[in-house]
Amino acid sequence: MNTKELVTTVKEFGSPLYVYDAQKISFQYKRLTKSFKKVERLRIHYAVKALNNISILQHIKSLGSSLDTVSIQEVQLGLSAGFKASDIIFTPNGVSLEEIEQVAAMGVQINIDNLVILEQFGTKHPKTPVCIRINPHVMAGGNTNISVGHIDSKFGISIHQMPHLLRIVDNTAMTINGIHMHTGSDILDIDVFLYAAEILFENAKQFSNLDFIDFGSGFKVPYKEGDIETDIEELGQKLGERFNAFAKAYPRPLTLAFEPGKFLVSEAGKFLVQVNAVKQTTSTVFAQVDSGFNHLIRPMLYGSRHEIHNISNPKGKERYYSVVGYICETDTFANNRRIKEITEGDVLAFDNAGAYCFTMASNYNSRYRPAEVLIKDGKAQLIRKRETFDDLLRNQIPLEDIVAI
Ligand SMILES: *Cc1c(COP(=O)(O)O)cnc(C)c1O
Repeated sequence: MNTKELVTTVKEFGSPLYVYDAQKISFQYKRLTKSFKKVERLRIHYAVKALNNISILQHIKSLGSSLDTVSIQEVQLGLSAGFKASDIIFTPNGVSLEEIEQVAAMGVQINIDNLVILEQFGTKHPKTPVCIRINPHVMAGGNTNISVGHIDSKFGISIHQMPHLLRIVDNTAMTINGIHMHTGSDILDIDVFLYAAEILFENAKQFSNLDFIDFGSGFKVPYKEGDIETDIEELGQKLGERFNAFAKAYPRPLTLAFEPGKFLVSEAGKFLVQVNAVKQTTSTVFAQVDSGFNHLIRPMLYGSRHEIHNISNPKGKERYYSVVGYICETDTFANNRRIKEITEGDVLAFDNAGAYCFTMASNYNSRYRPAEVLIKDGKAQLIRKRETFDDLLRNQIPLEDIVAI
């Protein structure tokens, strides 16, 4: 996708617009599987919550991927995209026993991260094999927003509760067929990750019916030039070797599983917006775009940095801008950024807009959610229509109808 082609997609499909590059997703998938090529049984479960468009799921399926889901609706989306139930793992947190039972009844692999639920589920359904989510209490990365392995995290069953867990398994005679961890969103230090993996291996020995060990995700992708990213090749080399040694000693064939979201789709996405106004104040120059945190909330929610390029004026001189939205709230995308000179009507492109961008979009300020386009085999195809006014009214019941009832 070059700059010109991106500007053309906005002309064709309007603004604001999410554009995804199928080729980049394929590239990342192959990079990951290649890094672990020495592991005989490898399964990649793409985390649907990162980007859940059916066409994206179908593309990812064509690469050979399975799915990781966190709600029954994501399971249903996966099935709609053509995945088999047996290719889906359900890794929810804090959902009801009923929802877990419904998903299990569909034939999806269940992953439980709470001892109370484990006991209830095992008592009622001792024949359904279950994976357990362990919290190894390892901090991956320094940002507490996104590190879920640490001591106060709501995710996973603490390794210190292992004796209680084993008692529940014994009492209910249920089968544990998988062991899982997902320590957070940033594997910066592979040795920290390997340390957590060691804890998982150590605990895996206590179960004799495992089919897989799932190391979750946390692959960090670059957001700007010079950013540290997870060295997948090194991880594949080191963890792959360690896994193979463990699997060799284990009495059953073992699969190594991962659940990448961001790694597969983050860099494949661009968010394209148009500049409504350039506004000079006493201290700064604002570029006001036809979007806000209703379409891209990560900068405001997590302080995420998305690079912004003026693709209408790629050869222009650079100036400093604050890029803000049109929402009646503070919705700053970027502060004091050097961007090629901006005039009204220019199209700005946000990088890393594939993961946790569209899926977190809302209708705040009664705006429509953007359209989505997939570039595949050199062609730009609409994969989600822009919303219309009917979408805003759908499911609302006007007062006169209530009075009539
Ligand atoms: C969100 C999530 C993932 C994906 O995380 P990324 O950082 O996007 O790779 C994987 N597994 C589980 C259980 C998750 O909740």
